[in-house]
This record gives sequence, C-alpha cells and structure tokens, in this order.
Amino acid sequence: MRQAAGGRTQRTRRSAPECPVRAAPLAALLALALAAGCASPRDDDLFGMTLDVESQQPWASDPELRHRIHDLVEESCAHTGLDPSQLYGMTLRIVDGEIPCGSVTNARGCTWRDQGVIAVSTLAWLSFEPRVPCVEDTPIPHELLHVKIADEHHTDPRWLSDEFWSPLWQRARPADCLDDVNASATLVW
Ligand SMILES: [Zn+2]
Repeated sequence: MRQAAGGRTQRTRRSAPECPVRAAPLAALLALALAAGCASPRDDDLFGMTLDVESQQPWASDPELRHRIHDLVEESCAHTGLDPSQLYGMTLRIVDGEIPCGSVTNARGCTWRDQGVIAVSTLAWLSFEPRVPCVEDTPIPHELLHVKIADEHHTDPRWLSDEFWSPLWQRARPADCLDDVNASATLVW
C-alpha cells in the first residue's frame, strides 16, 4: 500500500486499491471488492485456519508461535503437495494429552477432514516425557498429509519413509528444536 496513513483523500476511491472499500456507490463495485478478497480482513497468516492452543508448554505461549506454525505449514504444504487453500476454515488444535482418533485411543495427532479439525499433541511420539521441545516437533506435517490424501490406515509408503520426511525435517527444524533424546522417536512425524 503506497499511501501514507492519513494521507488518503476523499477522491481516491477509483484509483486506490485498498480495503475496505468505503461508500462504494454501486453494488457491483462492492462485489468486485469481495471477489478480490477485501471482505476477509481476518488474520489469515495460517492459511485461514483457526489456531486453538490448549497447551501449557512454555513454547505454546511464545509470541512467535503463529509465525513458526505458518512456516511449518508452508513448508509442509510445499513438501507434500497440499494446496494451502484446502486449509481455509479448518481448526488447528494443540493439546497436551493423548488424542482419541478412530480406533486409536492414544494418538499424538488426528485429522477429522469432515469436521475441518486437525489436532496434535505435545506428547512425544513414543513416550510421555519429555514433551516435544517445539511446535515443529508435533505431528503437524503428518496431519497435513492426511488432509491431502486421507488414508487413515496409513497404507501409503510415505508415512514411514525417512527418505520422504527427512528433507522437510532438515528445512523446518529450527536451531532451538534440537533434541537428541527425541530425535529418533520423532523422525517420522
Ligand atoms: Zn496418521
């Protein structure tokens, strides 16, 4: 946006592409604005997902959490080929406990595509303690692959492929998320 705040005149309606469009005289103009996305001023940096943090882990209250999740989701979508627009309107929930998921009572993550809900736990993949040290160590990438291909019974070979996940892990894992204790347990999300 080029115009400085407060510098807008009353006659910039036809040339200024900013939102919201005020006092549009024609419904058609408003419709154009809506089509251009001007009707979505919501914080959309998680690709339209609502973030629901129900965790007491210190990193869950990190002011950078949303940014970190954004980067993780962005990288994961690129890696798995998931169109991020499919995430719009979904809820991403982070919890501290086990997650009942279908026939599994103690999952670390679950995706309910019909309900538009993804839940991940801060519990480590194979144990209760220690907890995962950062949001990048939750099964968010794994659940995003479920969003793309469903496959709740994990028949696709990618689920357990180190070759598939390692490049993403190398890119998405920040320096403060190095945890040798959990490394092997969480290599496969
Ligand atoms: Zn799964």
